[in-house]
Amino acid sequence: MPKDSQEKATTISGCRAEFIFYAQAGVPDPRPVKILGEYSCDCQRPDWESRWRDWNSRQNPYLNLFLCAEHARKLKLIE
Ligand SMILES: [Zn+2]
Repeated sequence: MPKDSQEKATTISGCRAEFIFYAQAGVPDPRPVKILGEYSCDCQRPDWESRWRDWNSRQNPYLNLFLCAEHARKLKLIE
């Protein structure tokens, strides 16, 4: 059975951030905020893994993530 063709789009290069995900520290219901300017998706940063770890563990209250919708969905940050 062929897999969903969307899975082929894993080699994303140069995706653009569409949402800001604010640091979750102290925020009971953090919501992503639509970005109006041009920012590149944080997933492309060389330090992405440590950023994501920090953000996810809520260790840094000043760390915000800039993500495209596709990556945000993959990370289960949005539906
Ligand atoms: Zn992205």
